[in-house]
Amino acid sequence: AKAAGRDCYRAFEEAMRAVVEARRTVENEIRTALAEGQFELHYQPQVSVLTGRITGFEALVRWNHPVRGMVPPGSFIPVAEETGLIVPLGTWVLREACRQAAGWPGAPRVSVNVSVVQLRSGGVVKAVAEALGESGLEPGRLELEVTETVMLDDTTATLGALRAVRSLGVLVAMDDFGTGYSSLNSLHNFAFDRIKIDRSFVADLASGEKALAIVRAVIGLGRSLGVPVTAEGVETPAQLERLRAERCDDVQGYLYSRPVPAAAARRMLEEAGGR
Ligand code: C2E
Ligand code: CA
Ligand code: CA
Ligand code: CA
Repeated sequence: AKAAGRDCYRAFEEAMRAVVEARRTVENEIRTALAEGQFELHYQPQVSVLTGRITGFEALVRWNHPVRGMVPPGSFIPVAEETGLIVPLGTWVLREACRQAAGWPGAPRVSVNVSVVQLRSGGVVKAVAEALGESGLEPGRLELEVTETVMLDDTTATLGALRAVRSLGVLVAMDDFGTGYSSLNSLHNFAFDRIKIDRSFVADLASGEKALAIVRAVIGLGRSLGVPVTAEGVETPAQLERLRAERCDDVQGYLYSRPVPAAAARRMLEEAGGR
């Protein structure tokens, strides 16, 4: 029994070591990727329900890995957050998004996802100011998307950073609204410029009465607060019609377009301008 226990422990130790090593490998790979320019931004349009026009694009980071190909953010953002590498990566995202958006015809907004780790790090205000300064992008065309986890811990640091960013004229959106524990509390504590309804509610719109009730309530909340509401993950014409009937402001999702490389985003704007 003792020997079996020892074997078991050794197996556990080995498994732990493998986990730690795998993480260290990804960590080193992220560093290399930053140094060698393997990250790129794709852009997904946000469209006005009323006019059908593109009002903005959300920047979504991809890792163009030399061996694994295009890696989605879900597999490396968490490691980047745990290791603090989200800070330099996030600064790169801000600079790249502002640089590319500055040249867009029709001057739509660009939305950038910002992690709570970045906000807590203290450097985000400077990073935003520098990205705006070097690109010449008007502050009102930049929007930061934050989830309500920013309200969960160390609220003085994160709220302070958000208020400072907002005083530069930059917009701040509440992302994934309704998925956490304190969505309402967050709205109470900070003057968000936009609410994004999480795609889980949009997905259930056609099937469930409950999802419709929630979507209706969030849109009503936005209207009462004077804050525009964007629905995420709109995939079907039926969902769009529902959202139109509820007078949702903007939609984003595969129905209109998947996230596309910067050149394709620019073409979308050029074509829209030519109509
Ligand atoms: P998010 O901010 O909620 O971004 C929306 C995600 O939904 C994107 O996944 C997008 O491709 C996907 N999506 C858009 N339309 C549809 C649709 O109609 N149906 C479905 N099923 N999905 C749709 P993506 O690009 O894989 O990004 C995943 C998450 O990674 C993002 O969720 C965001 O939390 C994070 N992320 C992406 N880029 C960055 C970044 O630059 N910085 C930080 N901190 N996080 C990022
Ligand atoms: Ca987002
Ligand atoms: Ca979202
Ligand atoms: Ca999300």
